[in-house]
Amino acid sequence: MNRHASTGTPPIPFVDVAAQRRRLGSSIDEAIARVTAHCQFIQGPEVFAFERDLAQFCGARHVVSCASGTDALLMVLMARDIGPGDAVFCPAFTFCATAEAVVLVGATPVFVDVRESTFNIDVDSLRRAIASAEASGLRAKAVIPVDLFGLPADHDAIAAVAREHGLFVLDDAAQAFGATYHGRKVGTLAAATATSFFPAKPLGGYGDGGAIATDDDELADVLRSLRAHGAGADRYDNVRIGINGRLDTLQAAVLIEKLRIFPQEIEARGQAAERYRAALADIVAVPVATNDATSVWAQFTLRVASETRDRLAAALRADGIPTAIYYPKPLNRQQAYCRFPVAPGGVGVSERLSKEVISLPMHAYLDAPTQDRVIAAVRRAVKSLL
Ligand SMILES: *Cc1c(COP(=O)(O)O)cnc(C)c1O
Repeated sequence: MNRHASTGTPPIPFVDVAAQRRRLGSSIDEAIARVTAHCQFIQGPEVFAFERDLAQFCGARHVVSCASGTDALLMVLMARDIGPGDAVFCPAFTFCATAEAVVLVGATPVFVDVRESTFNIDVDSLRRAIASAEASGLRAKAVIPVDLFGLPADHDAIAAVAREHGLFVLDDAAQAFGATYHGRKVGTLAAATATSFFPAKPLGGYGDGGAIATDDDELADVLRSLRAHGAGADRYDNVRIGINGRLDTLQAAVLIEKLRIFPQEIEARGQAAERYRAALADIVAVPVATNDATSVWAQFTLRVASETRDRLAAALRADGIPTAIYYPKPLNRQQAYCRFPVAPGGVGVSERLSKEVISLPMHAYLDAPTQDRVIAAVRRAVKSLL
């Protein structure tokens, strides 16, 4: 065991997948054994059972599973025939996949700033971005709000702007499945919702996976075709260009078991977040809790002065506490994305956040003693840096 000198205790994990594995026990092994017995590894019965379970969980009419969160975003843009000459608005402060899907269909991502308080898309910046995209000759087609770190964006305000400008709304809920907004569940807040089952997400599998939730029957049909190479009546009838974007049966079998305990895990994440907030709010900027929405706390992200962030991370590391920086650069500063347009007025909040944010260990199995260790270390480090 890797013990640290200053505390004599082992480093704690950032996300404790092993603790969840212990809790799930034999149910996972049995689920996997059922698949290895029936051998329908592609589009087996668990895939469709999981889609039904997930649709029931979030209240959407359809859930179409797929190979990753990135494919979920990509397939929706393909289904909507979004391509060259089309502008798709997305926040600058997000994981690259949000904009990557836009570029893959040949459309132009237009980077929008986020709000300081929620880290989510700023509707005023969105309005400016739409006006400038249209003035430059692009067709404003869609907006991809991201529910960053588990907290839903301001979907009512986004819907109002989208209606005004005829934009399709694709919710990037890769980090926020299970969250609510004005009592409505993520999966029903936009015309289509993409999510991810990457292992570190709140609802993660044992590999890559994703899904799209929608109430639109026609869109769901097209998505089912797209994930299977654009299949029509059968798999050797190709009616459109698609991708190989299916969720593995084995992952679906694992996810069925994980979804059963997901509501309790969401509770536990919420309690851990509250403990952090109560114990740290007096010395450091903690994330907001609002009456509008509940978060699934994919991350618990502090803000500190940019000059002290590296030293805070180093001090915590020395105490066996891992931290992570989501995200160290806004997308408009990335080599691959810097050629795309930015909303007039810039994305100053995204730029600042990328220098100030730091995320603490957060998962459903963060017990009080472990969390107290994190809290004590953060308090000690922040005080010594002041
Ligand atoms: C993880 C993530 C994705 C991509 O999901 P994958 O399953 O890894 O492809 C997209 N958007 C956001 C905001 C994410 O956090």
